[in-house]
Amino acid sequence: MHTDFNYSGLKLGIIGGGQLGKIMSQKAKKMGFHVTILDPTYNCPAAQVSDKHIMGGFHDKEKLEQLVQESDVTTFEIEHVDTAILKTLYNDGHAIYPSPYVIELIQDKYEQKKLLDAHGIPVPAYQSVHSEEELCSFGFPVIQKAKREGYDGKGVMLLRSPDMLSERIQSDSFIEELVDIEKELAVIVARNIEGQITSYPIVEMLFDDRTNICDIVMAPAAISEAFETEVTKIAVRCIEVLEGVGIFGVELFLTKSGEVLVNEIAPRPHNSGHYTVEACATSQFEQLIRAVTNLPLGSTKLLSPAVMVNLLGEAGYGGEPVIEGIHDALEIPELSFHFYGKTYTKPFRKMGHITVLDDHVEDALKKAMKAKSILKITGSKTI
Ligand code: ADP
Repeated sequence: MHTDFNYSGLKLGIIGGGQLGKIMSQKAKKMGFHVTILDPTYNCPAAQVSDKHIMGGFHDKEKLEQLVQESDVTTFEIEHVDTAILKTLYNDGHAIYPSPYVIELIQDKYEQKKLLDAHGIPVPAYQSVHSEEELCSFGFPVIQKAKREGYDGKGVMLLRSPDMLSERIQSDSFIEELVDIEKELAVIVARNIEGQITSYPIVEMLFDDRTNICDIVMAPAAISEAFETEVTKIAVRCIEVLEGVGIFGVELFLTKSGEVLVNEIAPRPHNSGHYTVEACATSQFEQLIRAVTNLPLGSTKLLSPAVMVNLLGEAGYGGEPVIEGIHDALEIPELSFHFYGKTYTKPFRKMGHITVLDDHVEDALKKAMKAKSILKITGSKTI
């Protein structure tokens, strides 16, 4: 474990240059750190606010080595990376947090579930599948998930009946019971190098029906104090079990029968934690930087209820993004507008987000829904 950092001009490396890397980089710059990002895309969101951009993919041995060797500490905004290369660097003594071993475990949703299950953390019933027979063994409807490479609902399939078997996921997969979901919750948990842990308020995630992308986050979630305690305890336990250093988004289901089940863990800043930038004493992005540079974790106090809405590219548009309705939307008080600076839009691409504060979360939601109906991200081309 690295504990000796020179904080004057500390060099932070970030694997991935999307919106999460961008905000992380802005927070690192606030703290006076030097930021290098690795990303294959020229002028990607994080490149616009970083000191250095190494152009390369997340499986490019030379570029990954360059990033890690040039940085005092390297972290992630994406988990789909080559962990074999990173494990060698880590074993050579380079500071990489969360460790590539943790990233590797999380990359496989099935292995992740097995680890949590083995430690008594409640998860939906699940089973690895290698044949059609096994795929049918839970009956129908059933959820099938790719073990690896899934995100934003890609790699998750609801098989309603045996008739749908032809549509099944072809890659290595497992099945899960179809949970009767009351609410989808998330908790951001941070753990630093010394093992100090903090968790943020529990939030509720609402999903776009068409895409399965989380598009609204309410902080705090409207749940009873008893559930709050239980959910927080479970989320913290997940990160203890992982022995992860960094920031983690723990996604959970609250079932209609009142059970709390862990769905999955993201080993990086999470969309459900964007609200922390305006609404918490320490944002998830600064918290990650603190966690991986051996600094004390900051307060996770909720300063105000908040609702975050993702600004997804409108269906039917491509090309350069066009922001419609910004003047009217920004009339709404306590609204903060984020736009990531992606060079092109496509249907349902995450292009930006807004966070709206209010003294009561229901009022924040009303204002956020109004803004959502006004703000549209179209594009220079119709497709
Ligand atoms: P991704 O990593 O692509 O976000 P998830 O595993 O989080 O994939 O699944 C995406 C969504 O699918 C969840 O947010 C939830 O709405 C639904 N889902 C996933 N697993 C189950 C399940 N076992 N039962 C019911 N719905 C599920």
